[in-house]
Parts: sequence; C-alpha cells; structure tokens
Amino acid sequence: MTAGINWLRRIHWSLIYRGRPTTVVERVLWRSRKLERIGPINLPLAVTGESEPVRFTLYYFGSYESGADYFVATPGELDRLENPLVRISSSCIWAFALGSVRCDCRWEFEESKRLAAQEPGGNAVLIYAASQNGKGVPGGLRGHALVYALGQACSDDLVYAAYRNNGFKIDYRSYDDVAEILRYLRIESLRLLTNNPDRVRSLRRLGFAVTPVSLEKPYEVWDAEELGVKKTRLGHSLKLHGFDPEDIRRYGLDPLKVFGPDGGKSEDHLDE
Ligand SMILES: [Zn+2]
Repeated sequence: MTAGINWLRRIHWSLIYRGRPTTVVERVLWRSRKLERIGPINLPLAVTGESEPVRFTLYYFGSYESGADYFVATPGELDRLENPLVRISSSCIWAFALGSVRCDCRWEFEESKRLAAQEPGGNAVLIYAASQNGKGVPGGLRGHALVYALGQACSDDLVYAAYRNNGFKIDYRSYDDVAEILRYLRIESLRLLTNNPDRVRSLRRLGFAVTPVSLEKPYEVWDAEELGVKKTRLGHSLKLHGFDPEDIRRYGLDPLKVFGPDGGKSEDHLDE
C-alpha cells in the first residue's frame, strides 16, 4: 500500500516539475539537475544601523540527495542583478546561535547584510550555506564540537592546531553548488565580500569574474586567535589594525605556537 502511494507521489511530483507552472506549488518549486529551488519568500530582516527592518526576498536552494541546504537573500530583485555585491557565508552554530566571539562569522554576515541593504537598487545577494557548519567539517555540528574540544584538550593553540593535528582539513567547502546558484541567477561577474584569496581563486576557476571587496571586522582582543591565524597562517588579506599577538594569551595560548616562528610580530602581519 505504502509502495503504491510512493509510486503515485513520484509520478505526481515528476509531472509538477516537468509541467508549466500553473499551480501555486509549481510556481514556487523549480529544479535543476543538481538543486531544487523554493521561493520567493518575502522576509523583513533586522539590519544593523537601520531603524526599520529591511525587506529581503529569499530563495531556498538545496538537494535532498546530498543534504545541501542554502538560502539566497536579496534586498532587490534576483532577475535584475548586474555585477552584484555578493557574500557567501557558511553556518557557524557557535557564532549565530550562541554569539561566540572567537570567530567573526556572525559579524561578517551582519555587515554583509548591512552593505547589501545599502546597495543602490538592492544589487546584492547573500548566499548562506546552512549545511556547511564550521567550513563544512565532516559530521556537521558534531565534527565542529570535536575539533573545538580536541583543540582545548590536546593542544596549546586551540582550533587551528586541532584541525591540523587531528587530520582535518582547514576548509572542506566546495563551490560547485554556489556556482550552480550563481549561474541560475545569471551572474557572471560579481563583487565578492571576502578576505579569503582561496575563495576568489576557486570562483575564478569556475569561470566567474570576481572583484574581491574587503570585509574586515575592526580588531578586538578576542579576535586574536581567529583573525590572527587567518592572517598569519591562512594568507587572508587582513590589515588587523591594533592587533597585538600578545592578546592570544587571553586564551591561555602562546603567540609563538599559534602564529608560527615570529609569533605574529612581523611588520607585515601588524600593518600592511
Ligand atoms: Zn564561526
């Protein structure tokens, strides 16, 4: 009986996907070879510095098979984007749910939303990879928790070394889905909010014309680990005005171990 219902449902849904959009369900659902799209969804979002919520339009993109979940949000219209301002953010439960200040994930997203809201004509897109928690570390939240706990239990330089010393890659993310979303939006060139040169290179390799736009959180002492490591070890283009490697001692850590042989003290690291 159940098999019969499932068979009928498959037929029904395949007809919906192939047919012309005439019903409400058909209008909000669309499917490519890899991703399913659901939307539009109108959502007023709180934006830093704005007294009133800003109206954004959201779309869900994802794949039941791969478990990929994304949302795409714009203050403008998705079919009128031209060399838009784009931010690609990944989920980070620590920052978004708990307000962790060890990383800048939440600040980067909020600042991107603020900048998007200011773009003339709403010519901006936020792409949020909800299924890529902690740079896509295997195991999702479980994997992210494991890396943090291993870092604190076994090493003196926390998260970076915990990834390295326990066989994790620093970044597991793939940009294939993002490329598919950008192509769906007919975006060939974009102004990308990022300090990460790997991200720029990855998208250029996939055929996009990318102009990087800096997105740097004003330095505070709690940024010493995440931003210090991003700059000294991962090559992110950060100025880090006010960065003092000694700030890492707030975490009970040694600057020499965390930032490498010069302890993050070279002029290049402090101000460029
Ligand atoms: Zn984070």
